[in-house]
Amino acid sequence: MRIGFDIDDTLINLREHAFRIYTKKLGKQVDIALFHQLKRVEIHELFGLNDEQGNRLWHSLLEEIYFTDCPAFEGAIDFVQQLKKEGHTIFYITSRPKEYCQRTRKWMTEKGFPVFEHQFFCGMRDHEKVEIIKTLQLDVYFDDKPAVLQTLKDANIKVYVKHQSYNADVPFPRVYDWKNIKIT
Ligand SMILES: [Mg+2]
Repeated sequence: MRIGFDIDDTLINLREHAFRIYTKKLGKQVDIALFHQLKRVEIHELFGLNDEQGNRLWHSLLEEIYFTDCPAFEGAIDFVQQLKKEGHTIFYITSRPKEYCQRTRKWMTEKGFPVFEHQFFCGMRDHEKVEIIKTLQLDVYFDDKPAVLQTLKDANIKVYVKHQSYNADVPFPRVYDWKNIKIT
């Protein structure tokens, strides 16, 4: 099968990594339980920032958020490696900004994900992912973000949502844990 993955908050725990960076930078302790209850992707409201301030902080720290030691979700690397071993073709489709694409690809490889030439797509907007996913004729696709997932409702693709507090209403089969997932 041709199987596609979003990266941030689908395969790697980026928001929680950013949450820890914010905690340090802003010198503000916030209960992690509040983080796990957030109903939106953005995390800045936990630190008392408005959208504009939050957006500015996020972009000023992107380099550090993306390229330090953000952990993969438990079992995610093994799961993708296993699919590769079984002969599936693996794609990554991430809307990280263009200037970070090359380094992201390298970072993913160093992390242990199987990454291949012409199977890594980066730098598009959220709503543009659907066209890439269709053009690639993926059989299966994994993402976490409601704005992306809603564009895939009518695509003839098996879509899975990586469970997060902000996507509880999205009506696709859910991945809670990469260690126990079987795709059909
Ligand atoms: Mg994502």
